Amino acid sequence: LIGIYGPLNMLGFNYREIRQAFIDMEQMVQLRAVRPDIVDAPDARDLPPATGHGAEIVFKDVEYRHDARSTGLIDVSFRAAPGDTVALVGPSGAGKTTAVRLALRLIDPQSGAITIDGADLRQVKQAALRRAIALVPQDVALFNDTIGANIAFARPEATAQEIRAAAEAAELGPFIDSLPGGMATLVGERGLKLSGGERQRVGIARALLADPRVLVLDEATSALDGPTEAAIQETLRKARAGRTTLVIAHRLSTIVDADLILVLRRGRIVEQGRHDELLEKGGEYAALWRRQTRTA
Ligand code: ATP
Repeated sequence: LIGIYGPLNMLGFNYREIRQAFIDMEQMVQLRAVRPDIVDAPDARDLPPATGHGAEIVFKDVEYRHDARSTGLIDVSFRAAPGDTVALVGPSGAGKTTAVRLALRLIDPQSGAITIDGADLRQVKQAALRRAIALVPQDVALFNDTIGANIAFARPEATAQEIRAAAEAAELGPFIDSLPGGMATLVGERGLKLSGGERQRVGIARALLADPRVLVLDEATSALDGPTEAAIQETLRKARAGRTTLVIAHRLSTIVDADLILVLRRGRIVEQGRHDELLEKGGEYAALWRRQTRTA
């Protein structure tokens, strides 16, 4: 019996493990999916050196349709000056994710152009772009490895000092020091289970490891508990310093200080401005704000 079940059990065990690993990888790379149609142009360039003040991001008449029926993004133009925080808000299906995917160059616009520091994304080496723009996703997937390896996931060649610096910037330092094995502590399914806030911090640390000039935040739809959420927002506020930030915001309270808020509906920008201006306008944003502050 052992002769038969032994190998089967082993197979089952391996299969589960392998499947989980694939699911984890899929979650982690979903926004970094390797697209065969997105390749470096033969004359692709590096970006001009970073200034330490973020990057200028410009969308000019950008249009992207997923298919004949879906809106995607239509006629979208805006400019994020170096260091600015630009927030994307709007109902489900408005085009927020599409805009972010375009900014990360996971897809290319069908017409119009997107530039970073004056360079068309299609003319920039993808490796350079990946260093320049980093994403903090809604859900941070962890895999069964050390917390250090989880942070270094996107840059496995990072040095211990770099990993430590990213962890510090994400304000994970004291937490990591409290772990029995420090950076070498195993996390994930078969290791230490992290809280929602700690996972988000790992996501922030991962993004910061690239020391990006542009940070893309896809805010989680559900807030963490009050103090944890406030602490994460404070960490993000610091992480945004010296960078340009694009944020998909679900809670308008997190973007009251944004330099530019774009209200999207059915792929189009229907309102734009700062929080106070939009409230004064008394349009869609104001209505959204009233709804959210009433239920809060
Ligand atoms: P949510 O807040 O729900 O994430 P969103 O504002 O991010 O919504 P998008 O995901 O950008 O909206 O979607 C914009 C439009 O494009 C929607 O009509 C959506 O159905 C469509 N769409 C998005 N992704 C695809 C896809 N891969 N194939 C076809 N249509 C898509």
